[in-house]
Amino acid sequence: AKGAAMVTAVAYRLAAQRKQIDAVLAPFLLSLDTLREVKNKMRAELEYGLKRETQASATVKMLPTYVCGTPDGTESGKFLALDLGGTNFRVLLVKIRSGRRRSVQMYNKIFAIPLEIMQGTGEELFDHIVQCIADFLEYMGIKGARLPLGFTFSFPCRQASIDKGTLVGWTKGFKATDCEGEDVVDMLREAIRRRNFDLDIVAVVNDTVGTMMTCGYEDPNCEIGLIAGTGSNVCYMEDMKNIEIVEGNEGKMCINTEWGGFGDNGCIDNIRTKYDIQVDEGSLNAGKQRYEKMTSGMYLGEIVRQILIDLTKQGLLFRGQISESLRKRGIFETKFLSQIESDRLALLQVRRILQQLGLDSTCEDSIIVKEVCGAVSRRAAQLCGAGLAAIVEKKRENRGVEHLQITVGVDGTLYKLHPHFSRVLQETVRELAPQCDVTFMLSEDGSGKGAALITAVAKRLHNIGRK
Ligand code: BGC
Ligand code: MG
Repeated sequence: AKGAAMVTAVAYRLAAQRKQIDAVLAPFLLSLDTLREVKNKMRAELEYGLKRETQASATVKMLPTYVCGTPDGTESGKFLALDLGGTNFRVLLVKIRSGRRRSVQMYNKIFAIPLEIMQGTGEELFDHIVQCIADFLEYMGIKGARLPLGFTFSFPCRQASIDKGTLVGWTKGFKATDCEGEDVVDMLREAIRRRNFDLDIVAVVNDTVGTMMTCGYEDPNCEIGLIAGTGSNVCYMEDMKNIEIVEGNEGKMCINTEWGGFGDNGCIDNIRTKYDIQVDEGSLNAGKQRYEKMTSGMYLGEIVRQILIDLTKQGLLFRGQISESLRKRGIFETKFLSQIESDRLALLQVRRILQQLGLDSTCEDSIIVKEVCGAVSRRAAQLCGAGLAAIVEKKRENRGVEHLQITVGVDGTLYKLHPHFSRVLQETVRELAPQCDVTFMLSEDGSGKGAALITAVAKRLHNIGRK
């Protein structure tokens, strides 16, 4: 009888624990109705961003890119590309061949950007970038070449032409001083001048646009570019007549939505949890990029960490002990989350990963950690899908068709590495935009190749750059 009583006690304890964990994770389960609401709100914000009267205060900024068409295969030449703002900083040499044997060849080198430079002065940041370019040219043996350069700069920029971009505000891990409100192309040109060499900067390009262009090179039906990586963003081809702040009504222009800022006016506060608020408050740009902070790789691990701290405080994890590592910001990078959630991984291996991160876990702990990761990444994919559903629906209405077939070019570590993110994202889009038939196309290095293609098109069309 005593044994039975003990078993019952254990069962009770487990049931009580289960209840507590479920309560913590409940706000991460979004119903279809909630997701539909998110889609509708996103749709409304897209419209505000396009309209002249509401544009200035819009949280989804809808920035014109001055990219007006996809490549047609006649582009050719040698180009330099810079890729700043993703997981790695890279310099690339891109060779594009046109004609029947068209092809793109790329050589690239990854450079580290130390934290003190990401968050130092603007001058130091741009000097560092130019130093890396110089190293690359030397390394490739093309030191004196004055190649046209496309600058993939993955931050919000207000553009007045393809080779001008004023930084609206830093996002993700960057916070260099004296850059916001400045033209990043000018800053790059000045840094190049300081080193006494010469480059021909032709285009400044958001990574979403580079991704769309890269996929557009293979599939002309690709009119949307999505990044689900360190940050989150979408661009798409919009009818000129709907872009009120740009003169002209003919044709289309690519709009960089900067949808990461969705919710900054509080419109999705009803679904933000206390963990989201903690993550926001601990970030470099508190109050900003609220949607991005729920959907992108730089922040998902932080949300997980906040939940784990809470569960530990409640005595439900790690024997109630908050370790030094758990206090460290940024320990759960996308690659760890992806590993933990991989279905091929046995629990023992999950424990080993946690061990690597300095977290001593029991088998039960590792089950709970995996569950937490799953809840956070699933919500991220669903929210991202709800946003994308708003975009494809808008495209469908623009075209005035009952049924739309469209391709989305995608890049980003979260999309590429995570075992479930892409599937859940796609399922959500299918569910919320049933009249759209969406093909997802992985971009092969959109930031590098895309910048070069845009540079090639810009050179062909406007012959800009040489100054
Ligand atoms: C930036 C976007 C960028 C996205 C993906 C966001 O933080 O604001 O410009 O496209 O990250 O890199
Ligand atoms: Mg990138």
